[in-house]
Amino acid sequence: MPTPSTETSSAPFSFEIETRLRDSSSPSTEQIQANGGQFQGRTGTIHTPHGNIQTPAFIPVATQAVVKAVLPESLADEGAQAMLANAYHLFLQPGDDILDAAGGLGKFMNWPGPTFTDSGGFQVMSQGSGLGKVIDMSTVEEPLGDDDIAKGQERMANVDDDGVWFRSYINGDLHRFTPEISMQIQHNLGADIMFAFDELTTLHNSRGYQEEALERTRLWALRCIAEHQRLTEERSHKPYQALFGVIQGAQYEDLRRKACRDLATMGFDGFGIGGALEKQQLGTIVRWCTEELPESTPKHLLGISEPDDIFTAIDNGVDTFDCVSPTRVARSSAVYSPTGRFNLTNARFARDFTPISDTCPCYTCAHYTRAYLRHLFKAKERNAATLASIHNERFILDIVSGARDAINTGNYFEYRDKTLRNYYQMQ
Ligand SMILES: [Zn+2]
Repeated sequence: MPTPSTETSSAPFSFEIETRLRDSSSPSTEQIQANGGQFQGRTGTIHTPHGNIQTPAFIPVATQAVVKAVLPESLADEGAQAMLANAYHLFLQPGDDILDAAGGLGKFMNWPGPTFTDSGGFQVMSQGSGLGKVIDMSTVEEPLGDDDIAKGQERMANVDDDGVWFRSYINGDLHRFTPEISMQIQHNLGADIMFAFDELTTLHNSRGYQEEALERTRLWALRCIAEHQRLTEERSHKPYQALFGVIQGAQYEDLRRKACRDLATMGFDGFGIGGALEKQQLGTIVRWCTEELPESTPKHLLGISEPDDIFTAIDNGVDTFDCVSPTRVARSSAVYSPTGRFNLTNARFARDFTPISDTCPCYTCAHYTRAYLRHLFKAKERNAATLASIHNERFILDIVSGARDAINTGNYFEYRDKTLRNYYQMQ
């Protein structure tokens, strides 16, 4: 089981590719055709000052420097290798200066392993374009006008060429984010991997607006790099922080490829693939990006949701990805199992004294029954969320470490198809 390093090394950030999917496995002709003739998947190791990440890796989300309801010690025991926190939330509360004084995000939250922070762009912008309601992965049939997106709601953020004004979700105070401010906040937060400040658009924005936003994101990426270099020099006594550029461009192939070519020359340590991603097109969009970006750089997919998305990401060359679903669904009593997702509050579990999953090696399944967990949810006891979250995080972590092993041993496609067939109960 991988555990975070407890030592801080002075080694700079680096990434090594180990096994390439196309070298280790032979997909069938149908599999190759279904994927446009390409598989970019690989295994590797990301080296950071706070330890290594064996990829592909699932990165649990610790939005406010905590994975909701779960201790970092528990996540380490279940095999988590790194955590991703949100710059926007930590800037508003408790303040990035406090994390800096504490010795950085990892130290503040008692997580000795690698950490990521996002730039705050997603949260700031999702408030501007309708409080996140339209930033989903569902199919878009009719694009809305750019001004219709926040219809019926007070706009919480306004984008201009220099940055974004936004209102705090906590108390309504007005704040300003620019590429420079995002870099200053993320340097204070001290994560090993940071993301450049980008403008998020939605699938509902017009083509014209996507082009404008992409150009803004390109100019902001240059400003992020400049400020990052200045801060790295100024804070040379701190562990090195890597900066990933973020690829936008929604569902447009030419825009995605252009964004990749533009950002590839700027000197980023890696890349995040972000923005509006239609679920049905996830693999195709990710592949445009991984084909275009330098192969030797790590790629992170920002925010996915379901087990099939995980394999789509891995197939197409994503090395790390984050996802809030395991804890979010756990808090509403839904748990993953090899044969699909189910709800623990169902009456049929009242006297079911078996674990959530017989084959799951997690702490919850080793010690607790479905009947007890059902009781905790019904009684609204907080340990319900803790125990269900531990199980769900382990389930996703194990799927991804299984995929890594399968790429290394040359049976990835068999593993992927069997896992998905069982999970979605396809015959
Ligand atoms: Zn379990």
